[in-house]
Amino acid sequence: MSDCVVLRANWVLPVTHPPIAHGEVVVEEGRIAEVRPARGVLDARTGRDFGAAVILPGLVNAHTHLDYTLFRGLVEDREFFAWIRELVKRSRLLSEEDWRISAMLGAAEAVAGGITAIGDCTPTGASLEAAKTFGLGGVIYQEVFGIGEEQSVEETIRELAQKGAALKKESTGSRLTVGISPHAPYTVRPALFQALARWANQNQLPICIHAAESREELELLLEGRGVMAQSLKERCISWHIPRQSVVAYLDHLGIIGAQTLLVHGVNVSAKDCVLAQQRRAAWVHCPKSNAKLGNGVAPLALLCPLHEAEARIGLGTDSVVSNNTLDMFEEMRFAVLLQRAARRRVDALTAKQAISLATLGGAQVLGLKDVGSLEVGKRADLCVVRLDRLHAMPNYDPYSALVYTAHASDVVLTMIDGRVRYDAALHAEMKYRFPENDLAPLFASLPHLTACLQASLGA
Ligand SMILES: [Zn+2]
Repeated sequence: MSDCVVLRANWVLPVTHPPIAHGEVVVEEGRIAEVRPARGVLDARTGRDFGAAVILPGLVNAHTHLDYTLFRGLVEDREFFAWIRELVKRSRLLSEEDWRISAMLGAAEAVAGGITAIGDCTPTGASLEAAKTFGLGGVIYQEVFGIGEEQSVEETIRELAQKGAALKKESTGSRLTVGISPHAPYTVRPALFQALARWANQNQLPICIHAAESREELELLLEGRGVMAQSLKERCISWHIPRQSVVAYLDHLGIIGAQTLLVHGVNVSAKDCVLAQQRRAAWVHCPKSNAKLGNGVAPLALLCPLHEAEARIGLGTDSVVSNNTLDMFEEMRFAVLLQRAARRRVDALTAKQAISLATLGGAQVLGLKDVGSLEVGKRADLCVVRLDRLHAMPNYDPYSALVYTAHASDVVLTMIDGRVRYDAALHAEMKYRFPENDLAPLFASLPHLTACLQASLGA
């Protein structure tokens, strides 16, 4: 007997095709076998009818830092650079085991919120094990820093190669690939960027860079002044002012290409965006994080023409330190509302386009060819969102319901590769809703870890 499962709901949203009212998705051996209008009586052993709910592709969170889950709510209401410095300071307090627990909690939150793939930047490597444990797909980018010359370029790359090899080995048997993330123009020196570009190219590695995120970063690049320049001066790090925009600067260093994922893109000109498009680079839009840190609103229409079939842009929450959740429904809502507010146009971003960014767009920018939509033959990565709660009733259109009213906590089922990874019907308590993972030990260690971090605030 084949492992055929039929999931039925009032709406099926394939993303690449119009919504199906009263539809069902047939899953066979981890793949989508059929997407069709509901028919016949469901077999109680293999079928499940979710009623007032939407079945949609698993969400792709194209930019996260699962490692930092324990820092949620710890560093609030600071200016961007002060916020980063505070984060770095607190990061030194965690042990390897603490990072592991932190990333595991993040992976659990992602899966419970309907996320099935991520683009994650990790300084410690902990997020790979966490993502693998919970079945997540996507790309894990090993972060690399080096604005000063404490370590030679060769030494940094040697170390990076070792970390990358360890991650690659650990990724065996998972849906994850490994890339590198030279953090940002203010944390990686030009010579290191150039060497990393060559090295990544030789090894065919995907690259992720935080780019054009803050005003402080732009000041450093254009004029060599501001808090970032001041910090370099205090640390006796020499800085040759490039007098270029962030995108032009990175391109000049040879690190922008078809394998490059640029995160944020708040401070960009039309010229920058054309340049990135010519290089076939992709973007991740993180509206909530950009807003919370006071960095601004990215000009989405410039970054990427959304009407193009192969729009190279995805949506990401960024870490929970700047968000403070991995809720992709809220991220879609912010994306739409902020674009409309900034451009004073209702058509600046539609609910339908936001869903596309959060699913197919994310899959495209991470190079995941067989996810992102409910289509026959693709992997059975999907989630089910209930629409029968007070805040979601009534509903007339699935796009509107998902983008303007839904929350991550409305997800009732997350399936990855045809396997149920989260099921709200399993247990009333969140920690027991993961059929393949035991969250109880993670929850048990939380009070101690948070107490340690809380105590550090006075330091
Ligand atoms: Zn980030």
